[in-house]
Amino acid sequence: PEAVAVRDVTIDYGSTRAVHGVSFQVRRGEILALVGESGSGKSTLAWSLAGLRAPSGGTMTHEAGDLTRPSRRRAPSLRRKIQLVFQNADTSLNPRRSVGDAVRRPLRFFGTAATRPEAAARARQLIADVRLDPDLADRLPAQLSGGQRQRIGIARALAGEPDVLIADEITTALDVSVQAEVLRLLDDLRRERRLACLFISHDLAVVRGIADRVIVLRDGVVVEEGPTEEVFAAP
Ligand code: ADP
Ligand code: ADP
Repeated sequence: PEAVAVRDVTIDYGSTRAVHGVSFQVRRGEILALVGESGSGKSTLAWSLAGLRAPSGGTMTHEAGDLTRPSRRRAPSLRRKIQLVFQNADTSLNPRRSVGDAVRRPLRFFGTAATRPEAAARARQLIADVRLDPDLADRLPAQLSGGQRQRIGIARALAGEPDVLIADEITTALDVSVQAEVLRLLDDLRRERRLACLFISHDLAVVRGIADRVIVLRDGVVVEEGPTEEVFAAP
């Protein structure tokens, strides 16, 4: 079953239309790659799906409800199911707070941990889940490597217990060897947690290695779509 379905979605910035009538679905356990040149609308779609920008037309539906017009009561529980991880986890981590705190806060915010000690323990577990030493929880972001920080970004996203994970250029800023580790982690997580994963990247070699299906966007329109091996097959 699909975890999210995007139907005929249009997204505007003022009078500029960035996404024109795009439709796709992502199933549980699947990695769907969104590829396309810079400016083709990938991030706009990602941010909109994560609830950060309302589409001007079309629908976005999660298996638990309508994402475009959720009721005030349902919105928080629906929103936490769709989590976004960005290119530079660095920029969204508070430099003066420990990385454990960064993972603990959303646990409290989303109500997935009831008490402060419970949140601290769950944060350590999530840090272990992204294959890091839980003792790193006490460090500041600057005391971690770029790859470690990106994993903390993933751990923080997992705190919402999402079933949809949007990975927006998460390996772009990393060295090639570190990229491979983060990709393997993502691949493991979607299997273990049955995550529907929307994987945004402009790196076609990376996409080829990890995606089950691919959508190609150009100027806000889907120009190609299919299983990875078909999309990458020589014409
Ligand atoms: P991609 O992620 O594929 O590089 P974006 O979603 O960032 O593409 O951009 C899609 C289009 O929307 C581009 O034409 C871009 O210039 C435009 N755009 C993106 N962000 C804004 C913004 N904040 N204000 C106006 N236009 C924007
Ligand atoms: P405190 O340590 O101040 O008691 P909590 O541990 O209760 O804070 O965490 C709640 C915090 O989560 C909020 O203060 C808020 O800054 C932060 N937060 C806000 N929006 C989000 C979000 N979308 N995802 C995760 N955390 C968020």
